[in-house]
Amino acid sequence: MDIRKVIEKIYNEVKPMFGRGKVADYIPALAEVNPRQYGIAVASIDGESFGLGDCRTKFSIQSISKVFTLAMVMRHLGEELWESVGREPSGTPFNSLVQLEYEHGIPRNPFINAGALVVTDRLMNLYERPKDSILQFIRENADCDDIYFDRNIARSELETSSRNMALGYFMKSFGNIDHDMDKLIDVYCNQCSVAMTCEELAKSFLFLANHGENPFTGERILSVSKAKRLNSLMLTCGFYDESGDFAFRVGLPGKSGVGGGVVAIIPGKLSIAVWSPELDSHGNSCMGIETLERFTTDIGTSIF
Ligand code: GLN
Repeated sequence: MDIRKVIEKIYNEVKPMFGRGKVADYIPALAEVNPRQYGIAVASIDGESFGLGDCRTKFSIQSISKVFTLAMVMRHLGEELWESVGREPSGTPFNSLVQLEYEHGIPRNPFINAGALVVTDRLMNLYERPKDSILQFIRENADCDDIYFDRNIARSELETSSRNMALGYFMKSFGNIDHDMDKLIDVYCNQCSVAMTCEELAKSFLFLANHGENPFTGERILSVSKAKRLNSLMLTCGFYDESGDFAFRVGLPGKSGVGGGVVAIIPGKLSIAVWSPELDSHGNSCMGIETLERFTTDIGTSIF
């Protein structure tokens, strides 16, 4: 099967679908992004890659960064990590507070904001210069140095971070956050602001499609078992309260962000990144999910 032809067909079918969602506006700088953009990039573990549309435009990866920070922390921590963050789908929006009180400050999973804050807090224990280390990790996996924090987005999110602050302080009251909240939120907002293209993003996820090993350098990023776990978490929790629907429609582990990016992997084969900023009511890219659903349907391949 010629995957390039399949992607071209899907791109042409989905492109007229602009207007179904709206850009994230709770972070003011994200509200300024032109909604009518659409890019797709595919990278395979044997080194092939191609892209279409706005696949070379930088966008803010937002919650997709939670995959990178989790991988960085999982490299160092074993079972103890799962004492402070769960691994069950939350069934609630990504920035929800409700479960935290009756679950004693232990977030349901590492991909909702509360869980990601715990992961970043642990990352700050493990890395002396956390922001530099996050960029370095992403750059190495994307094999690209031109990946940076978008200062404008980071500042805008920092200025409107009351909800994330509330999540952090609440967990701190249960003893589940070690660092000063301002420092934690600064690292978190910066990691969310990372600017990448679909091409870079697809490449940077290949270690997860390759059982934890970077297919280009041969470096083992995660053990086979840890890569399995991270992929399982993406499948069950990668799209917040739309995770079940994403699994139903697409059948792949993946992760989204409110910048409109969506990445998914087919284990042993490839990684695919789609970007289109118009979001559905759960904060996931409408055209991103539509593209991936058509992709696994048309190529007749998923993890099932
Ligand atoms: N930076 C965003 C936030 O904390 C990330 C959310 C997302 O992409 N779902 O609200």
